[in-house]
Amino acid sequence: MNQISKIWSKIDPFSLRVRLTVGVAGVSALGLGSLAIWTSWKMQQILINDHKLNVEQIAERLPRDVQLYSEIMPPSTGLQKAINNLTTTNTYLWIKSSDHQIIAQSPNWNQLSQTTSTKLMSLTEMSVKPQVAKVNQRYFVLCSSALPIQDQTLGKLFVVQDVTSEQTIFLVIVRYLGIGSILAIITISVAIAFYIKRSLQPLRQLSQMTQVISLADLGQAQIYLDNAPSEVKELAKTFNMMLSRLSQSWEQERQFVSNVSHELRTPLTIVHGYLQSVLRRQKNLTPAQQEALETAALEAERTIRLLQHLLDLARADSGHLHLRMEPCVLNDLVAEVVNMAEKYSDRTIKIESTTKSIEVRTDYNRLKQVLLNLIDNAVKYSEADTPVIVKLNQQGEEAIIEVCDQGCGIPLQEQSRIFERFYRIDEARDRSTGGYGLGLSIVKTFVEGMGGTVTVRSRTTTYHQTSRLNKGSVFTITLPACSLLE
Ligand code: ADP
Repeated sequence: MNQISKIWSKIDPFSLRVRLTVGVAGVSALGLGSLAIWTSWKMQQILINDHKLNVEQIAERLPRDVQLYSEIMPPSTGLQKAINNLTTTNTYLWIKSSDHQIIAQSPNWNQLSQTTSTKLMSLTEMSVKPQVAKVNQRYFVLCSSALPIQDQTLGKLFVVQDVTSEQTIFLVIVRYLGIGSILAIITISVAIAFYIKRSLQPLRQLSQMTQVISLADLGQAQIYLDNAPSEVKELAKTFNMMLSRLSQSWEQERQFVSNVSHELRTPLTIVHGYLQSVLRRQKNLTPAQQEALETAALEAERTIRLLQHLLDLARADSGHLHLRMEPCVLNDLVAEVVNMAEKYSDRTIKIESTTKSIEVRTDYNRLKQVLLNLIDNAVKYSEADTPVIVKLNQQGEEAIIEVCDQGCGIPLQEQSRIFERFYRIDEARDRSTGGYGLGLSIVKTFVEGMGGTVTVRSRTTTYHQTSRLNKGSVFTITLPACSLLE
């Protein structure tokens, strides 16, 4: 039962497969059903029509015979003789007067059971056209007509022919035909379902192949389908053309970002340099001028950082991000970064590490940039009186750096998205921090380029007056450890 409901839940009523199967099965059911009905009707005609004709002929012939016999013998004897002549083993005749009294009848009534003959004889109305009727579990073709003798109506003639054996055979055949049709419809439906499933396989393959194409392999991605119908091959060809157009436009966009970032960065760096030098050398600036120049220098620095991030990401996308991987002692690197960050942020940042020195192969400057980004975020998104801790650890072949804060935390549904470019959780919340939503995507790009991974664990548990330890974020960087002697 469970299995059936599982299979049932997997069926999509709007899928092409279900629609085609239902459509084709429906048409074949209709075709087979109509054929079975037509065959049954035709067979009944073949089996019963002879009897109907026979009964009709008897009803027509009896008045003529009675007329002939009445000329040579008394009418009642003539009537009985005519009835006797037309009576056969399974044919029964009787004549009723206008007051429903039986005037004459076939001599073979004793062949039928008492109840059947009583029921038949009690009938007062029958159609003139012969019809099949069921009387007491037996089948009869019956009809009636008036019996005119010498321009007078003598009574009503009833002719009945027993067709029980033919009708039984007919009903058995109809039953077999019905069962056969149902079985054939089921078999055809199952066969059609399998055939349609196989025919749609290339489409499924196409969708699976397209699903795994990422931005990184857009240029090389090509869809090949063997043994697929020409229409699907045509579709795959169109897809390939579209992929190549997409790849070209993506490449152009990347190139554009890279060029613009590069072209803007140089003059902006010069502007920033001049601003710094004016701020350092000019002692006679008014407080308003001083403030304006400081703001301009800060904004210029922020924009230079953004352009550098864009340039790095564009290089990483085109595979031109060259990392200078060299062995280094992670403890020294972390100490240096924490020292820098403390000066820069005016916050106390603690290091928790084992005394053992941890060695990795990495790009020293890029890893410093990564850690500075994470510490900068930890500082930005936590209160000034809460600690920021950098933990350093080695587990087997892996060096682990954790940047922990007790800040506002990141909602679970956002945690997978914060590494996307330009993604910021809440513009209103983040506006004051002055970022562009690129820091973490740079972190991810660099760390993965160094053969490592970066993950986040975070809690946004409601603020508790007595304990604030229950919330905050932990960004974990894992890098392959090595020995400097290698
Ligand atoms: P930004 O430069 O805007 O900070 P990031 O890429 O560094 O961009 O971070 C993306 C978003 O992730 C931020 O807008 C911020 O909301 C969230 N975030 C990053 N680090 C933390 C953290 N330590 N605590 C809380 N939120 C964070």
